[in-house]
Amino acid sequence: MSPHKRSRYSESDCLELLKDAPLGELMSEAHAARFVRQQENVVTFLVDTNPNYSNICSTRCRFCAFWRHEDDPDAERLSAEELASRIRPVAELGKVTVLLQGAHDPDVSLKDWIEYIRAIQAVGSDIHVHPFSPPEILFMAQQENKSAKEILEALWDEGIRTMPGGGAEVLCDRVRSEIAPAKCSADAWLSVMEQAHNIGYLTTATLMFGHLEKDEEIVEHLIRLRDLQDRTGRFLSFIPWSFKPGHSALSELVPDRTHPARYVRIIAVARLVLDNFPHVQSSWFSESETAGSLGLLAGADDFGGILLEENVLRTTGYQRQMTIEKVIELIRRSGFLPARRDSFFNILETYPS
Ligand code: SF4
Repeated sequence: MSPHKRSRYSESDCLELLKDAPLGELMSEAHAARFVRQQENVVTFLVDTNPNYSNICSTRCRFCAFWRHEDDPDAERLSAEELASRIRPVAELGKVTVLLQGAHDPDVSLKDWIEYIRAIQAVGSDIHVHPFSPPEILFMAQQENKSAKEILEALWDEGIRTMPGGGAEVLCDRVRSEIAPAKCSADAWLSVMEQAHNIGYLTTATLMFGHLEKDEEIVEHLIRLRDLQDRTGRFLSFIPWSFKPGHSALSELVPDRTHPARYVRIIAVARLVLDNFPHVQSSWFSESETAGSLGLLAGADDFGGILLEENVLRTTGYQRQMTIEKVIELIRRSGFLPARRDSFFNILETYPS
């Protein structure tokens, strides 16, 4: 099928785009679709940091190299003060988002979460806390013998207004049972997001591809996200990233990383199919500076975060470092006006050359 289509893409259209559409044509069409939603020739980025409050996890997903047993020498559970001390050095950078996530640690309570949030918020009024993906919310609900809605409401009462869309992996239970058998189901992930949206949260949605999933299952993922967005309209952006095999159990089955052309194709297909998502992110961080930049020519309008601290991918042996200046240069080189944004996608500053 040609990517040139003016009505909504069906599941079978989406599958054809993933499998067969010529990549150049697909990129060009997705690039045009991006300008329907974001008319300015702007690519945004975020200044953020991603400290983890704990790496001690009872869920132990097969794709994950981050988790540790309680008695492992490098197991770490931070106090609220330790967490705050990691944020203080970046507070001088103006509006900074703290993407706060951790493992499923049975010894971290809702009270601890609230202490973390308050300690980070106390660092400065420009700090925005963006915490806890749906599987963490569900894990905490189970720990506290509460509903997910009660946990979400408790966080709302702490002033939290945005949430990361992590832990979606592929929203298909066949895949989830293979790569993360103890994690929540696809229905449960979507249900937490729907409840969060109904409370008023704005969120992102992710996809982790490049392991055991089939094209049909990526289609299922995209269509389920689009259906939920039709109901709530509270997803701000879609963020795909590829599986990094290093040091995880799954790397025995999937030893190689996905080719960057696959990443670019997924960005383009997402931009066309997720016609109700305002933004699609192409990440210099999760893929590479080159693949991330190519994604900006395939429908993406956001370059992701600077990620001043990142630990999850680092445990796979995958490391990247970036500065605000370098991100600005990469966006300019791709032909766009760089713009720093906040977690609500408000533009804070633009950087004309
Ligand atoms: S992805 Fe999250 S829940 Fe799964 S093992 Fe890693 S830390 Fe635990």
